[in-house]
Amino acid sequence: MTAQLIDGKAFAATVREKVAAHVSKLKADHDLTPGLAVVLVGEDPASQVYVRSKGKQTVEVGMKSVEHKLDRDTSEADLLALIKSLNADPTIHGILVQLPLPDHLDEDLVINSIDPAKDVDGFHISNVGLLGTGQKSMVPCTPLGCLMMLRDHHGSLSGLNAVVVGRSNIVGKPMAQLLLGDSCTVTIAHSRTKDLPDVVRGADIVVAAVGRPQMVPGDWIKPGATVIDVGINRIDAPERGEGKTRLVGDVDFDSCAAVAGAITPVPGGVGPMTIACLLANTLTACCRANQLEEPEGLTV
Ligand code: NDP
Repeated sequence: MTAQLIDGKAFAATVREKVAAHVSKLKADHDLTPGLAVVLVGEDPASQVYVRSKGKQTVEVGMKSVEHKLDRDTSEADLLALIKSLNADPTIHGILVQLPLPDHLDEDLVINSIDPAKDVDGFHISNVGLLGTGQKSMVPCTPLGCLMMLRDHHGSLSGLNAVVVGRSNIVGKPMAQLLLGDSCTVTIAHSRTKDLPDVVRGADIVVAAVGRPQMVPGDWIKPGATVIDVGINRIDAPERGEGKTRLVGDVDFDSCAAVAGAITPVPGGVGPMTIACLLANTLTACCRANQLEEPEGLTV
């Protein structure tokens, strides 16, 4: 491996420390505790793990954590009523509805019922519009974490060619907006992109958010480029024993690490930064709600 490893786990720990320090200052100076409410509908096992982890880390940085676990068959009216009450609750500064929702619930309607100021996932249409027009917004956690790591590694991103593979509303599109905001020349690639290997070969920065295990091989990577692997895919790992699995990203780590200048691992790269940025967003939301100075370096 020649690439420098971008250690998302260690970076996330520094973000959490900064958040925790600011939270204790808010408590001491203003008697204020940031609060995050997470709403989970149904029993999706992966979502349950995420929600548990979010709640645990929220408490660890000194914030208030509230979890609302609703039955799978909860009606839209009941879910909207819960969000309305959280919108009105002055002790709650961030609201996160864990996605995906069961099919009978309209995801757009639910997300857009959250007060945009408390929308710590940054998915509300107002926040999407604010980000797209370069205004102060709540920024989606995963792309925010990627941007923090890129800024830390490169300093200025100005003028660099960035290719984002994937155009989802939660990762690809906001990632592209953030890179554009930092004056990269941005290309968004997707399943219909022609000559994807050549497109990726032109990139100083590659962000892979595709959902296909190890799809990007090393010979697509320009020597010295920075590779950010957003993908989380579970694959069979018979070498670890019968029925065992392991997590891999959307890039083929070994071949990419042999060519890249820097790369994030999976696990231990983007994943830990996503939750750290959720905590950062909750703190930011609390500061904004109380007209207090925002902590530096925790948002764009
Ligand atoms: P989506 O399925 O919503 O989007 C995938 C995107 O990849 C689509 O735009 C799709 O193109 C594109 N794509 C699919 N196949 C190809 C292909 N062969 N060539 C080029 N582009 C392709 O996924 P998400 O954005 O939600 O997630 C992406 C990955 O990131 C997943 O592995 C997910 O688990 C992970 N993830 C990780 C997070 C973290 O915290 N680390 C958080 C969120 C997601 P098209 O639009 O044309 O269909």
